[in-house]
Amino acid sequence: MRCSRMNDGELPPGAAALGDVSSAEFRDQLHQVADWIADYRERIEQRAISPHDAPGAIAAALPATAPCAPESFKTILEDLDRIIVPGLVHWGHPSFFGYFGSTTTAPGILGEMICAALNVSAMTWRTSPAATELEGVVLDWLRQMLQLSPAHHGVVYDTASVATLHALAAARESLQLDVRKQGLSGRAGLPRLKLYASDQAHSSIEKAAVVLGIGAENVTRIRCDAEYRMLPAALVAAIERDIALGCKPCAVVATVGTTSATSVDPVTDIVAVCRKQGVWLHVDAAYGGAMAMLPEGRWAMAGADDADSIVVNPHKWLFVPLDFSTLYTRRPELLRSVFALTPEYLQGDASGGAENYMDYGIQLGRRFRALKAWMVFRTFGEDGIRARIREHRRLAQLLASWVESESGFELMAPVHMGVVCFRARADSLTPQEADALNESIVTTINATGKAYLTYTRLRGRVAIRLAIGNVLTTERHVAACWESIRGERQGRP
Ligand code: PLP
Repeated sequence: MRCSRMNDGELPPGAAALGDVSSAEFRDQLHQVADWIADYRERIEQRAISPHDAPGAIAAALPATAPCAPESFKTILEDLDRIIVPGLVHWGHPSFFGYFGSTTTAPGILGEMICAALNVSAMTWRTSPAATELEGVVLDWLRQMLQLSPAHHGVVYDTASVATLHALAAARESLQLDVRKQGLSGRAGLPRLKLYASDQAHSSIEKAAVVLGIGAENVTRIRCDAEYRMLPAALVAAIERDIALGCKPCAVVATVGTTSATSVDPVTDIVAVCRKQGVWLHVDAAYGGAMAMLPEGRWAMAGADDADSIVVNPHKWLFVPLDFSTLYTRRPELLRSVFALTPEYLQGDASGGAENYMDYGIQLGRRFRALKAWMVFRTFGEDGIRARIREHRRLAQLLASWVESESGFELMAPVHMGVVCFRARADSLTPQEADALNESIVTTINATGKAYLTYTRLRGRVAIRLAIGNVLTTERHVAACWESIRGERQGRP
């Protein structure tokens, strides 16, 4: 044994007493952490957004084994400042424009801190009645803000990938193939199950297909129009072809706010296709669902209320920190029929009529995620949330107008939400050279540490993708990033 072996009850030399850190020490540490967090947020702009370390460098700076003896809070905090924080990508930086922005907010941080202190599990009503009931209340508030009908029952999961997995499990259950009991393997009479999603939809659908025994190969990607929206006629053709081959369509996934271009599938038309064919419709509005908060954005969620299930991620554009994903479904009984399984030791928690959220998913222990969302929704209010989303859209439109008025650049997708996809034009270069140019603009800007971008591929070509979603981001940040992109372009062919 590496650390010195002791007799039962014997403490190592210099060790603190058993139990937790003393209350006085903890109070002092909490004050330090409060200041640490406030300083971090206040001075985040002075930091380089992303580190330069080679893979393994950070791990190499840390001891290979856990300490045998207690270490002081001071040393731990020093290492945090010296090794960990400089090795992070600062998603909360106002010039972080990667992926789907960052939704760190002060009320969200406070909610996470209190959640950690409470450390309750919202698995059954009995294990923490207020955690369960607050989850229901917050889900209902959000449902109303998103203008979804009361027929939609909500559940909180960690991520959209997990929410979609659960929705598709319910879709599979709707086919009444008795999969829960018999599984899928070794059943000769079972048809091949099929899922459908656009060629722009998120890869979480393939992951769900893998886990649900449907198989990634049985996800059919449907062609899109020039604005990256699923073509309903191509969907109908794919479903009819599969039925003719003896396959069983299981679910269609329509996307409101695709990952690359934030395009919006024609959900109303897709609802009609699904109704006609008797196929489950899941709407992935993980990012774009936030548009329903705005009267001028409701078009994006048109038809979504008629879907069997909808995922919306408040951790993408509703200012709740990672992780907080909501699934709404008109068929909650199917989720329960897949997942409700009460072990003997929880039989006593079969609370008369109260919600037991463990019945809606694979997880038993569940974080008290509703707390941070409740604090965010109350601190900003519906109007405050709406104003922030509106501002992000304004900034995106502004950037799009700058791109359009600059001859060396072109927009690669319509701008509806907080994301702008564009590229440097390079008519004298081959398409591959032009792709390399756009890639290198992104990597050079990221290397400065002053802004952070990602790139994607649209119509087969590399596009610079700039996502605005941080409450700290202002016009100054977007303008500075745009100037750096222009500057990078100027120095190249
Ligand atoms: N759906 C869409 C449209 C996404 O863009 C993403 C991720 O960006 C996901 C689902 C997966 O989200 P999560 O990270 O919450 O699993």
